[in-house]
Amino acid sequence: MNLNSIRYQIIAVIIAGALVGTALIEFAWSPRMNELLIDTQSLEVKREAEILADGILPYLLSNQIGAVYETLQSVNDRYESWIEVTLHRADGRRIFPLGPAQTATGPAIISEAVKIEFEGQNLGVLSVVVDLGPGIERFRNEQLRMVYVAAVIVAFILFAVAFIVDRLFTRRLIQISRAADEMAIGNYDVSLPQGRDEVGMMARSFSAMRAQIQYQTTSLQEARTRAENALEARSRFIATMSHEIRTPLNGIIPVAELLNASDLDPDQRGKVETIVQSGKALSSIVDDILDVSMLETGKLTLRRGEFSPFEMCAEASAIVRPSAQKKGLAFESEYLGPKDLTCIGDADRLRQVLINILGNAVKFTETGTVSFKTYVEEPHADRVMLRFEVADTGVGISEEALGRIFYRFEQELQGTKCRFGGSGLGLSIVKSLLDAMGGTVTVQTSRGVGSTFRVQLELDIASAPSPQKQKPQFDAQETGRQRFALVVDDSEINRTVASAMLRSIGLQVETADNGLSALLKAQQKKFDVVFMDMHMPEMDGLEATKHIREQDGPNAETKIIALTASVQQADIDKCKAAGMDDFMPKPLRVDRLKEILAELPSEEQD
Ligand code: ADP
Repeated sequence: MNLNSIRYQIIAVIIAGALVGTALIEFAWSPRMNELLIDTQSLEVKREAEILADGILPYLLSNQIGAVYETLQSVNDRYESWIEVTLHRADGRRIFPLGPAQTATGPAIISEAVKIEFEGQNLGVLSVVVDLGPGIERFRNEQLRMVYVAAVIVAFILFAVAFIVDRLFTRRLIQISRAADEMAIGNYDVSLPQGRDEVGMMARSFSAMRAQIQYQTTSLQEARTRAENALEARSRFIATMSHEIRTPLNGIIPVAELLNASDLDPDQRGKVETIVQSGKALSSIVDDILDVSMLETGKLTLRRGEFSPFEMCAEASAIVRPSAQKKGLAFESEYLGPKDLTCIGDADRLRQVLINILGNAVKFTETGTVSFKTYVEEPHADRVMLRFEVADTGVGISEEALGRIFYRFEQELQGTKCRFGGSGLGLSIVKSLLDAMGGTVTVQTSRGVGSTFRVQLELDIASAPSPQKQKPQFDAQETGRQRFALVVDDSEINRTVASAMLRSIGLQVETADNGLSALLKAQQKKFDVVFMDMHMPEMDGLEATKHIREQDGPNAETKIIALTASVQQADIDKCKAAGMDDFMPKPLRVDRLKEILAELPSEEQD
């Protein structure tokens, strides 16, 4: 029961009207009617007293006192409401009644006196005292009965009106309201009331509006689906293109690095270094574009792993320090916190954030210092707040540009691109990654003086701090026996690069260009380690790994390392589920290869 409905509002108005009407009758109309009644009755009594005086005049003139007495007595007896009739002579002597005079007082008691005269001679005064109470009471009862009957009739009429209003309007208005509710949850097929009246007009307007909204919603949904498909297609295209660009880069950078490690004259070394640096710059742009695309489509997932913030900061510093020193900048790095702290989070992404900010600090500073400070707030319970501060003495950022630098493709000045290079993607990725991690980034800057970027992030603390360990590196001389590796990749460049790297650190290498031929080789010969690409024709890396594990061949226990361009948790999980032991992101790095190979069992476990 909705008490706000029109139906109940009408009933409330009826009841309120009836109460107000009754109150008006009771307190305003009734007293006025009483007054009028008393006035009229007074006139009436006076007229009757005059008639009576005229009636007894002849008796008084002829001094027939007995007749006067009888007339007055009979009148007094006849009119119930007449309390008393008195007749005094002109000299004040009372003629009637003979006994003592009655006295009565009250609001409805009136008295009228009539002078009895004949040809100027005063014969006496006739007084009448009348009680109008019973008459008024009767009148009032009658009046009330009429009011009640009228009230019942009016209420009945009003209820009838309410019923008709309900039938004609309320129900149809409720129907329109329900249609609106249904429309809100996407159901446009609810019937609407008909009619030529205002409610019908409203229903027609509503129907037109609903058709318009349905049309617009459908168009919007189609546009949205098209946009999503386009975004998806773009992200697929970007992923494919990055893969395609990364594949030759994976050939260029490691081979150039291998070349750099060989005997070269200074001029040749300089040129090879240029190839390495250009390759790395291109690789980082491809990474940024891929990240932006994954962030846009929501495909970027964060990993939750244990890591040491101290080590992570040291790695970030180690990566940026050489470029700062190369520019002649002082690079200061300070870690203010417990070095054995182990947190849970995505260390690679956090490192990426810091390298980005540190890289910008170096890039936009011509002279002076870049300082990198890490504060670890007193850990409480199982959470800790990490605060990173990167300050530089560079060009600074104008007030106007500050609001834009965290948006994609935004660079402070048109000239920035030419002067410093860069795509304008870095800080937008920083911001998106920190948003995803629940962190914040702020900047304080002054034009020509420098900038300070502050990153704040709260992380879970790992239950037991992991011991600080320097990861061991593989050394072919120390292992004592020849190690054999199988490199499985459909890209000839990747096979060549991986083989060259592995040979450079002392392994014997065989290659296979798809999962099937890898399976055949694995059946024939025992390897110490297999590097397995994931996506290959004929049989992919996951399936090949499953077969190698399931067949009770010589390599059922061999360490299998996934070679993957993606470090997405979902892909890593798939590798683990297929039976792979570890993964190596492309492009391959010699130091990481050495770390993985150092974990190989030192003796044959036959
Ligand atoms: P990119 O560095 O590739 O241009 P970013 O998104 O990393 O793109 O940075 C956006 C812009 O913010 C830069 O182009 C630059 O104008 C400004 N900026 C970022 N860091 C600094 C800094 N440390 N000093 C001065 N300007 C900066």
